[in-house]
Amino acid sequence: MLSVQKFGGSSVANVDRIQKVAERVSRTVERGHRVVAVVSAMGDTTDELIDLLAQVTDRPPDREYDVLVSTGEIVSAALLACALRTRGHNAVSMTGPQIGIHTDGVYRKAKIVKIRADRIREALDAGCVVTVAGFQGINEAGEITTLGRGGSDTTAVALAVALEADVCEIFTDVEGVFSADPRLVPRARKIPRIAYDEMLELATAGARVMQSRAVEFGAKFGVRIHVRSSFSEGEGTMIENVETNGWGEAGMERVFIRGVAHDANQAKITVAGVPDKPGVAATLFGALADERINVDVIVQSATAVDKNDISFTVNRDDLDRAIEISKSASEELGGGEVTADENIAKVSIVGIAMAQHAGVAATMFRTLASHGINIQMISTSEIRISVIVERSQMEEAVRALHSAFGLDAPEGA
Ligand code: ASP
Ligand code: MG
Repeated sequence: MLSVQKFGGSSVANVDRIQKVAERVSRTVERGHRVVAVVSAMGDTTDELIDLLAQVTDRPPDREYDVLVSTGEIVSAALLACALRTRGHNAVSMTGPQIGIHTDGVYRKAKIVKIRADRIREALDAGCVVTVAGFQGINEAGEITTLGRGGSDTTAVALAVALEADVCEIFTDVEGVFSADPRLVPRARKIPRIAYDEMLELATAGARVMQSRAVEFGAKFGVRIHVRSSFSEGEGTMIENVETNGWGEAGMERVFIRGVAHDANQAKITVAGVPDKPGVAATLFGALADERINVDVIVQSATAVDKNDISFTVNRDDLDRAIEISKSASEELGGGEVTADENIAKVSIVGIAMAQHAGVAATMFRTLASHGINIQMISTSEIRISVIVERSQMEEAVRALHSAFGLDAPEGA
């Protein structure tokens, strides 16, 4: 049995915690498993390194950015290897380049193209535990690259694929994936099993558990991903292929929704009075895409015979730039005023079973109506329905939907 175990920044935040991780890895080895332990940088190290760099230069070259931020993970990997050795294990640390994690040439958010993994295999065959610095690789030119924030998850899943591991365990500071954020919904439950697609939709809907790319990787190659707490022994959430039929039938209620997610980090822009003719949306959203601004929910409505208003949401961090771009696009198109509203939030329900059951959307809208919550915009995928509501009503919306779809844990549980 081969396990790839990944420990996030909070799990290796200080020496005590690294010792705890070493204990856990030891226990796995003692059960007869071979282990590859992928680690993140200690605590907030990556942010601190980025801060340091900002004190030296406003325009860090991408190459140096990657050289610098890749060091955080190397520190954790070496410390963990040493902690394992003092426990009598043969352990060796490796960096991304040493392993042979080959990426494309894009610094700061490189994509893995190939993993050689010969060295890891040799070390495992020699009876070593291998600790791996996550988040990094090497490009064709032999330069160090990093995989984007949260990228150690992707390192772990990719290694699990390359090594044909039996499972990829993601150890983190939460017990698993929940049916809603427990800070908002005290009666949220841990989800025992979730489908890859549901996890991806929850992630885009605002649930912050794992880097989405890692989940996509897992889905593509069918690696089971176990998200679990590094502070307790309990089972977490298994992300895997889940059949749509058969779940929710164990209890009395039939549950079609796996989770409710929210995202308060959105803002809405409205471009008023643009002409109703071909190419208008292409011009506006093309200009935004050129500046790499992600647009989420879009609504177009006719306001006069030959005029439309176009509203859309963007990440709040992109709002200022998005307004600028929208203003010049509107001018170019002969449109009207551009207005923005930061006082919004997105609330989504996700579940693969919704595709087979009518009435899920109706239940969602009825529930919101009965709480006096106005829906400003709607968007859907096959397994997700999202609505934009006023920010002050977000929490109530999440709780109401969580109850309405039978997700609340029993009282006192
Ligand atoms: N240390 C990197 C970050 O903070 C990568 C990771 O933690 O996965 O984004
Ligand atoms: Mg991190």
